[in-house]
Amino acid sequence: MFAILCRLELKEYDFGPGHSFRGDRYEVFRQFLQENLPVDDNYRILAAGPATDKDLLLICEKEYVDFTKGFYQAANLGLSYPGQFFRFHSGDNQPLGRPGKLEEAARLIVGQAKKACDLVQEGEFKKVVSIGGGLHHAKPAYGEGFCLYNDVAFCGLYLLQKYNLDRILILDTDAHAGNGTSEYFYHEPRVLFIDLHQDPRTLYPGTGFANQIGSGNGRGFNINIPMPPYAGDDSYRLAFETIVEPVVKEFKPQIIIRNGGTDPHFADGLTNLGLPVSGFRMIGEKVRQMAEICDGRTIDLIASGYNEKVLPYGWLALICGLAGIELEIAEPEPIPQKLGTDSSLPETEKVVEEVKRQLRDYWSCLR
Ligand SMILES: [Zn+2]
Repeated sequence: MFAILCRLELKEYDFGPGHSFRGDRYEVFRQFLQENLPVDDNYRILAAGPATDKDLLLICEKEYVDFTKGFYQAANLGLSYPGQFFRFHSGDNQPLGRPGKLEEAARLIVGQAKKACDLVQEGEFKKVVSIGGGLHHAKPAYGEGFCLYNDVAFCGLYLLQKYNLDRILILDTDAHAGNGTSEYFYHEPRVLFIDLHQDPRTLYPGTGFANQIGSGNGRGFNINIPMPPYAGDDSYRLAFETIVEPVVKEFKPQIIIRNGGTDPHFADGLTNLGLPVSGFRMIGEKVRQMAEICDGRTIDLIASGYNEKVLPYGWLALICGLAGIELEIAEPEPIPQKLGTDSSLPETEKVVEEVKRQLRDYWSCLR
């Protein structure tokens, strides 16, 4: 039995008509979930309240919260708001037309992160999924990449502060590098950040190289695995088996926080990776297996994906893999011939060697 946090109000996380990130994804997914996975014997859908200002101050500077709240409230009402948008946010956070109640929904997502931490730490559920979560580009005083408040960082900082954990794993499998999350924990040895993403030379945010391994006491605890374009099942399996799994075994996390939706899918509109829907199931399964080391304790944050057809299939595949549910999930898009075999595997082998070379002084399993 596991829990899914997924309130209907998430649909307000909507940058407006014509924007890449719309809020209807949450309604589409909820419907798909109910049709394909009966709620009673498998999971519960729970609701969380929004994060308070005090909660947000764990991850954000006050002037950023003040601006963000005022600006997006005004945008939702079709009004302009004084102040310099570009001081606090990048262009891809700029709403189009009339956006939803974005800031309120962003607070809800942080509220879900908090509730997920409490549910797992207090032993009510071993596994909690937060739909809408994984806003990994947001920084303490700067929002970018469709992210307002970084709920991934919130989980890490809240678990450090409230529950005194000292070995937290954050595993980021989104197609884009988690530049925000990385920045929060770059000096922090109690949080191991492992990030698989498309080669940053070919995709936003342009950071997340193998040699960015953390600094100060946090050196060795920031692990980037920049996957070559079109990397598919075999490439991901190699990265997990040669780096992620051995390092996690050596680190012995007390909890695993994983984030990322379906944007590594081969038919995603914003990226160039090569995973089929079955690849998301594999990621979920890998997380479930690795979590045996921490008695199954996992928080899973899912929001990304820029192919609407693929999104509900991929999200459900992640969840079924994580929860160990045997369910046949179709591939909604025809697999292109060039992806029939993973032609990026030789390139991935080189990446793996480079990552090992960068980190072998810090992890004996990589020597
Ligand atoms: Zn992404």
